Amino acid sequence: MSEAKQKKHLSIKLHIFISMVALCLGLVLLLWLGGAAFLKQIYGAIKMRDIEHASNQISYSIENESITEILEKIADEYDLCAKIFAFEDDDVSLVGEADFFNDCIICDDVVIGDKDLLTQMYEDARDHDGFHSMPVGDNNIITTQIVHSEVNDCAYLVVLNTSSAPLSATIRTIHSLLGLMTVVAIIISLVASYFLSKRISSPIEKMDKEAKLMAKNDYEVHFEEKGPREIVDLAITLNKTSQEIAEVEKIRKELIANISHDLRTPLTMISGYSEVMRDIPGENTPENMQVIIDETARLTSLVNDLLNVSKLQSGTQKMDVKKMSLTKAIKDTVKRYDTLINHNGFTIKFESDKEAFILGDETRLLQVVYNLINNAINYTGSDKTVIVKQEITDNVVRISVIDSGEGISEEDLPLIWDRYYKVDKVHKRAMVGTGIGLSIVKNILLLHNSRFGVSSEVGKGSTFWFEFKLYQEPNQ
Ligand code: ADP
Repeated sequence: MSEAKQKKHLSIKLHIFISMVALCLGLVLLLWLGGAAFLKQIYGAIKMRDIEHASNQISYSIENESITEILEKIADEYDLCAKIFAFEDDDVSLVGEADFFNDCIICDDVVIGDKDLLTQMYEDARDHDGFHSMPVGDNNIITTQIVHSEVNDCAYLVVLNTSSAPLSATIRTIHSLLGLMTVVAIIISLVASYFLSKRISSPIEKMDKEAKLMAKNDYEVHFEEKGPREIVDLAITLNKTSQEIAEVEKIRKELIANISHDLRTPLTMISGYSEVMRDIPGENTPENMQVIIDETARLTSLVNDLLNVSKLQSGTQKMDVKKMSLTKAIKDTVKRYDTLINHNGFTIKFESDKEAFILGDETRLLQVVYNLINNAINYTGSDKTVIVKQEITDNVVRISVIDSGEGISEEDLPLIWDRYYKVDKVHKRAMVGTGIGLSIVKNILLLHNSRFGVSSEVGKGSTFWFEFKLYQEPNQ
């Protein structure tokens, strides 16, 4: 991503900071809205519940001897004005009162003495199953409750009055408290979001710096595995990645060094011999020509091997799998070494019991056998003997190519199948192989899902083997 594009995106620090501040402001706004808009309603509802409660309490104790004290206590507790009227034979009388509410509207004598009004209130309560509550104006609630006497032949009317709105002083207090809380909340959220965003973003920023170094081919970087879990996970992954890239980079460098070395050797020979043949009369001999031809053949085989292994690994070449005789393929391959056997004193033995048929790509498998025998010849010991063995057990045929040569050390064993891996790093045997043979063998056998391997002992020789399932006729 270009730097201009990067700048368009907000940093994680700013993201967290903005979100936290927005969240805090949202909460404060909610508090203000709640305080300003719903305070009156909430207060009114609480007051209504309280006054109902008080009315019930008074009703229960109405014939109690100490009703006057009870009334005082309840009125005081709930900030209300309470009156109890007795309705008896067409007469209404005030039998108890307590006033702890300054702005009471049922206290004046007009109300108390207004028999019609009191009778109306009584009837209203009766029409509402004995309890009636009504808001009066903006700030008042009046409740009426009828209680029938169990002692006398009368009915009592409990009338209560209180305010349904909070005092303006209360509202002012709540508002100034809210204001203070807002300032404190904003300061706390600013400080907290600053530290939180720093805590989360700093390991990411550190990682970014290290990743940039990695992008510049510095694979020594170490990502610190500290901080929140996700960041630790990321650091572990990046550490693994950098190790793997470093390994691949090492192999790539080795590969290039090896390939250039092996390309340069025959090219130097070809150009050297050609110049000698051009400049020195009498050097234009068939032997010198042969050197050039041999070196050209080596170059060709190196390039072909490289191409082959790339094609095999990329899967661009299709397999031509059909029934084939593995025994015959090996016999034919061994035959190709007749000249070598006759001229150089090599012995190549093929031991087989019966003919083994398998499903495979013949051309490719011939190459496997050829590469293994070639290696065995190149690396075998002074007895110059190579044994190719075919063994059939159950439904499996195993081919082993055995030599009695220098063997391969244990640490090199798993590596020899890698492309361009040579045990002999100084290329003492550069004339012998291209370092790709076993990689080709491995890729072909993998394409056949075949089991393969090697056992070797330094100084005693090596046995390379692979296995195939025997071909079964469909009706068997
Ligand atoms: P090369 O062309 O160098 O033989 P290969 O891929 O065929 O390349 O083999 C890789 C390496 O494995 C060889 O360089 C050699 O060190 C080792 N190797 C392969 N076959 C044998 C063997 N039969 N005996 C000892 N070492 C072997």
